[in-house]
Amino acid sequence: MDALWFDPTEILLGGIWQKAGQTIDVEDPSTGQVFAQIGRGSVQDIDNAVASARAALDGDWGRMTATERGRILTRIGQLVETRIDALTQLEARDVGKPLTQARNDAVALARYMEFYGGAADKVMGETIPYLDGYTVYTLREPHGVTGHIVPWNYPMQIIGRSVGAALAMGNACVLKPAEEACLTALAFARIAEEAGLPAGALNVVTGLGEETGAALSAHPDVDHISFTGSVPVGGLVQSAAAKNVVPVTLELGGKSPQLVFDDADLDAALRFLVGACIQNAGQTCSASSRILVQRGVYDDVVARMGTAYDALRVGPADADLNVGPLISARQKEIVESFLAQGADLKTAGRGQVTDATEGGHYVAPTLFADVPPDHPLARDEVFGPVQVVIPFDTEDEAVQIANATDYGLVASIWTADGARQMRLAKRLRAGQIFINNYGAGGGVELPFGGVGKSGHGREKGFEALYGFSQLKTIAARHG
Ligand code: NAD
Repeated sequence: MDALWFDPTEILLGGIWQKAGQTIDVEDPSTGQVFAQIGRGSVQDIDNAVASARAALDGDWGRMTATERGRILTRIGQLVETRIDALTQLEARDVGKPLTQARNDAVALARYMEFYGGAADKVMGETIPYLDGYTVYTLREPHGVTGHIVPWNYPMQIIGRSVGAALAMGNACVLKPAEEACLTALAFARIAEEAGLPAGALNVVTGLGEETGAALSAHPDVDHISFTGSVPVGGLVQSAAAKNVVPVTLELGGKSPQLVFDDADLDAALRFLVGACIQNAGQTCSASSRILVQRGVYDDVVARMGTAYDALRVGPADADLNVGPLISARQKEIVESFLAQGADLKTAGRGQVTDATEGGHYVAPTLFADVPPDHPLARDEVFGPVQVVIPFDTEDEAVQIANATDYGLVASIWTADGARQMRLAKRLRAGQIFINNYGAGGGVELPFGGVGKSGHGREKGFEALYGFSQLKTIAARHG
C-alpha cells in the first residue's frame, strides 16, 4: 500500500482536523504488524463533536434544502468512485479483507451515496382527511444530532448505509468507528469535505469503545443513536440512550439459515451456500452459518459443499484468495474455541491456509455436518469461517430448527415450490428473507435489520430515511 495520504491521528471536529491527545496502534491482520497509529479521542472530544454537530444544524447545514443535500451526497459518491483503488487498498490492509472483497465494499459505499443522494428530496409527508374546516399534513424532519457507532468488519458499507441516510435527511452526524479498523472512515470524511459537506455536518472521533463509544451513547445532546456491533455492547448503548429517552437502531449479530429442499436447483444453491458464510472470513453479521438440508438431497449437498471447502485457500489480503485473516488474535482465539467444541462433530470439508504470513490471524474454514440443532455451533454466532449442515425431513421441522436461535437477521429458502416459498417467507423469523438466492450484506436498496437478539430498527433502502427522521403532524383549523 502507498503511504497514507492523510494523517490518521487526526480527528474531525466542526470541520477542523486536529490531533487527538493520544494514539492507538493499528495492526495489519495479515501480518500482526503495527503499520499506523490512529487518534485516541477523549470524552471531551465527543462533547466537542456533539456541540459542532448542533452548531451545524443551527448554521449552513441546517438551512440547506433537501435537493442541495442530495447533490452533495451524490458528489461524495462520485469522488468515492474515483478513489476506489485507494480505498480498496486501505480496507484490505486495515481489515485483512482479500482485495476483491474490499473493492466490493468501496463500490457499495459509492452506491450508498448515489442512492441516498438521489433519495434526499423524495421523502414526502402526506395530507390526512380530518374534521370539516381543517387541513392536516405531515412533515418528515431530521432527529437532529445522530450518533453512529460502527464495527470493524464492514466500515465502508456501514458508514454508507447509516451516515448516508442520516445526512440525506438533514441530521448532523458524530461518527465513532471501531478502533480495530477506522482508516476508511477517516478517508471518507476527507472525501465528504472535498465534496463540499459543510463543517460540522459530519464529525469523526476515533477511539476506544468504552471511552468514546460510551460517551457518545450517553451524551444528553444526542438525538438518535445508530449502533452496529455485538449484542452485549448493543445492550449497553441502548441502556445509556434510554436514560436520555433517545431512540436507538441496533444492528447486531445473527445465525442466519439457508433451507434447501429436495426440489431445489442445487447447482444454483451451491453457488451461494458456502460463499454466504466465508465472505470476510465469516465475520459478517448476516453470514449464513447454518445450512438446513432435506434428507433426499442431504448427502449430495454435504459432499458438494465439502468439496467446495476443500478448495478454499486462505492467505493475506493482498494475495486476494478466498479467505483472509481474522481481524485480531482475540477473534482467532474465539473462533478456535468454537472449533474445539466441534471436535466430536463430523468434519465435511476444510480449507487450507496456504500463503500465511507469520503473525497473521489465520484459521482454516471448516464445514461440520450432521450437527444437532441444539449444539452450540448450531446456535451461537461464531463470527468466523465455520459453517454447519443440519438434516431435516419435513417443512415444519425445517421451520422449527430455523427459528430456534435467539437471532433473526436473514434466512433463505431454496425450493421450486412457489406455495412453499410464500408459506415459509411468512413463517421464518428474520428481517430479510431471500428466495432461491442469498445476499449477505448485499442490496443497498433493501431494508435490513433483525428481530430478537439481531436487533431492531431498519437501515438501508428507503426505509432508513424514515428511521433517520421523525414525523411531525400539523393540523390547521381554518374554518
Ligand atoms: P463491538 O460491539 O465490540 O464493537 C462495535 C462498536 O462499538 C465499535 O465501534 C466499538 O468501539 C464500540 N464499543 C465498544 N464498547 C462500547 C461501549 N461500551 N459503548 C459504546 N460503544 C462501544 O463489536 P465488534 O466486535 O466490533 O463486532 C462484532 C459484532 O458485531 C458481531 O457480533 C456481529 O454480528 C456484529 N455486527 C452486526 C452487524 C449488523 O449489521 N447487524 C454488522 C457488523 C457486525
